[in-house]
Amino acid sequence: MEWKSGSTNTTRIGYINKNNQLNNGTRGIKGTDHRQVAYKMKCLSPSCLYEYGANGTDVFQRKCPKCQNGNQGIDY
Ligand SMILES: [Zn+2]
Repeated sequence: MEWKSGSTNTTRIGYINKNNQLNNGTRGIKGTDHRQVAYKMKCLSPSCLYEYGANGTDVFQRKCPKCQNGNQGIDY
């Protein structure tokens, strides 16, 4: 399945939020929030690079689950 951008600025592929978390797009897998899909996020901290899933509504403020004490990732 192909990775796709969402329809908003923060859900497009390549968006990086203020916590240095990169959005790599969605395959359309359902998220855990109402009417959301899950996006594949990547932590850009060079010593981390952890990948995890996040709801579209959370992308803009998401913190890395591994090195920033963010919430656990969801399936993506
Ligand atoms: Zn991290």
